[in-house]
Amino acid sequence: MIHQVTMRRGLVWLRNDLRLNDNSALYQASTQCRELAAVFIASPGTWQNHNEGDPVVAFRIACLRELQIELEDRNIPLYFIDVPFFAQIPEVLQQIVERLKIDAIYTNAEYPLNEQRRDTAVKDLLKKDGVKVQFYSDRTLIPPGAVRTREGEPYKVFTPFKRALIQLCADSEVKTLPRPRKIPAPGSESHWPKWMSLSGGQKLSRKIPTQLPHYTIGKSDNTGFIKGWRIGEKAAQKKLKKFSSKIFSYQVERDFPALDGTSCLSPYLNSGAISIRQCIAMALSLNEGHWLGGNDGVACWISELIWRDFYTHLLVDFPRLSKGKPFKEETDQIPWSYNQDQFKRWSRGDTGVPIVDAAMRQLNETAWMHNRLRMVVASFLSKNMLIDWRWGERYFMQRLIDADFASNNGGWQWTASTGTDAAPYFRVFNPYRQSQRFDPNGSFIRKYAPELKGLSDKAIHDPPPTQGYPQVICDVGAGRKRAIEVFANLK
Ligand SMILES: Cc1cc2nc3c(=O)[nH]c(=O)nc-3n(C[C@H](O)[C@H](O)[C@H](O)COP(=O)(O)OP(=O)(O)OC[C@H]3O[C@@H](n4cnc5c(N)ncnc54)[C@H](O)[C@@H]3O)c2cc1C
Repeated sequence: MIHQVTMRRGLVWLRNDLRLNDNSALYQASTQCRELAAVFIASPGTWQNHNEGDPVVAFRIACLRELQIELEDRNIPLYFIDVPFFAQIPEVLQQIVERLKIDAIYTNAEYPLNEQRRDTAVKDLLKKDGVKVQFYSDRTLIPPGAVRTREGEPYKVFTPFKRALIQLCADSEVKTLPRPRKIPAPGSESHWPKWMSLSGGQKLSRKIPTQLPHYTIGKSDNTGFIKGWRIGEKAAQKKLKKFSSKIFSYQVERDFPALDGTSCLSPYLNSGAISIRQCIAMALSLNEGHWLGGNDGVACWISELIWRDFYTHLLVDFPRLSKGKPFKEETDQIPWSYNQDQFKRWSRGDTGVPIVDAAMRQLNETAWMHNRLRMVVASFLSKNMLIDWRWGERYFMQRLIDADFASNNGGWQWTASTGTDAAPYFRVFNPYRQSQRFDPNGSFIRKYAPELKGLSDKAIHDPPPTQGYPQVICDVGAGRKRAIEVFANLK
């Protein structure tokens, strides 16, 4: 491949795109620059304001550590710097650019509002210094705004969005990019420093820390919150490969939390250890190139991946989503409950509804929760308990290893009927029926609520008073009725 080297020194600003292969910004930078470095800027104060918890941050930093080894192998040094807030990033990058004599910055776009504002501020500041900041669309299959209704409006409902996306993509092959070229080892006249101090007192260094303000990230990559998760790009590829042998039964098994029926790729997709194109390309290769039809399991998985695009696109078209506002604005009138004690019981997995409790305990113990259960617990909190969905959204962000603002906000709002669900608000998940249907012999419940272990397969879903297990937190049927009334009364 012929490379058009037009820049002397480039800097790749890594964020949630922590992989070597199929990384648009990294690849383009490597083709355009003679010398290349990368930087990761941790902003723990802002991450905390965004409710990102230990699991997602620990996973991200662990992936970064893996990537550093791969990058250095290609003569691309990776620098790490820690500033409290996004607001400090423009000045910090300005200093880095000046001190390292960088000609251009390459980075992949991020879409929540504060991320967009941060990036605009960086671009504006560096423009004054004549330094180009090049953004690439990399996180989604198609760039936000790429599909519109006939009236030129953004899609507000998933199915037509999916149809339009597929129409746009289906005619061409989903291409993935190769890893960046190996940059020739720097000569004596040009070398990258090991570290340097910046004027604000921060240190730019090649050492990735094991501690960050506000966060417990752990010394080793396989302890604490990320225990049990293999880290990084190679692990993600292995997981994708393993899932490719199960994908054909995805549509049958994906709703049963006791089965290993889904890919568990979400932490990798969200940290960027794997790309959406790599996932789609694998699925299409198993489905003779068909996005729709063909094998039901594959088509269903493709559809789930498109949900991720849908929710990310919504962030750009509806900035209010990043401001804690509901998608359906009228639902702001709902008299949500803010009962702390009840919320704590829900969070702990102490509601007296076995499937809800087992799910919340899965989240608290493993930093992950099965999709079916995310819907069940979100519905229980926001409908049966009528607690503000934003409390649940925040708790998930703090606890999930795959916490992603777009998908989490989308999932919560969809379930709470404040979002894009096309079904009417009176669809309220019945937790007992969900339990009977999707955990029929109670295997999942028994795993996370061992105090119910001895109950029969029938009784375990709605148990009689049981030693050591709480009474139901609310009247589930009355809660459902109240939620429907509240929604029906919205103007
Ligand atoms: C209340 C609620 C909160 C959620 N919070 C998050 C979150 O913070 N981060 C997150 O990645 N997903 C979130 N989801 C979506 C979904 O639950 C997870 O993506 C999925 O459980 C991850 O497991 P998997 O990788 O095995 O998924 P698979 O079933 O194998 O699906 C493959 C990929 O498709 C995407 N995907 C699947 N379902 C959805 C969906 N409904 N919405 C958006 N993308 C989807 C994910 O990237 C997922 O990894 C949430 C859903 C709900 C209902």
